[in-house]
Amino acid sequence: MRRCEECGGYAYSGGPECAVCLELVDGIVEEEWRSFLHRWDVTADQEAALAEMVVEEPERHDWRVMDAALDRLVCPDCGDRLSRGPADCSACNLAHGFRYAAIETDRPGVPPGNEHAIRVNVSVVRRPQVTSEHEFLVRRLSLPLLLVGYLPTTQEAQRMSTLIKNSSPERVTWLMKQAIEDVIRDR
Ligand SMILES: [Zn+2]
Ligand SMILES: [Zn+2]
Repeated sequence: MRRCEECGGYAYSGGPECAVCLELVDGIVEEEWRSFLHRWDVTADQEAALAEMVVEEPERHDWRVMDAALDRLVCPDCGDRLSRGPADCSACNLAHGFRYAAIETDRPGVPPGNEHAIRVNVSVVRRPQVTSEHEFLVRRLSLPLLLVGYLPTTQEAQRMSTLIKNSSPERVTWLMKQAIEDVIRDR
């Protein structure tokens, strides 16, 4: 795990406030989209049509491709990227739920469920307005660990959620930092 030179936290963990981290998180889905375009030999003017096709049949595509496809479509209700609009946009909420129909495949050598956790955390970091402040903090700070193949056990996750309950955002950030340092030391 490396540090982000912009925000000083671990790379990928800065959330929307750090442009460098946010670009890294977008890159997780963008990279897959680029190789998808390459496989289909698609030119730039056909990209939107391909995105529409993916969104119509998410169960046939990897979640990263699905999330990148949604970014390329405009929400008919709020005008933002589809699924990225305000918390009260019903068209975005529908698309946001629909994204979970796409496929997730754990990378070789990681605990089962790691890919699911990455997917949820990426989705939360890219649309924080529908998540509580606590959950958002936990998901954005734990993303770098998940990306290097870590997944907390059920007990670890429960212990953490008990610890952070009723804590201030500053305290949650501090607790997460401690937990991450513990994991790194033990690896
Ligand atoms: Zn950063
Ligand atoms: Zn919308």
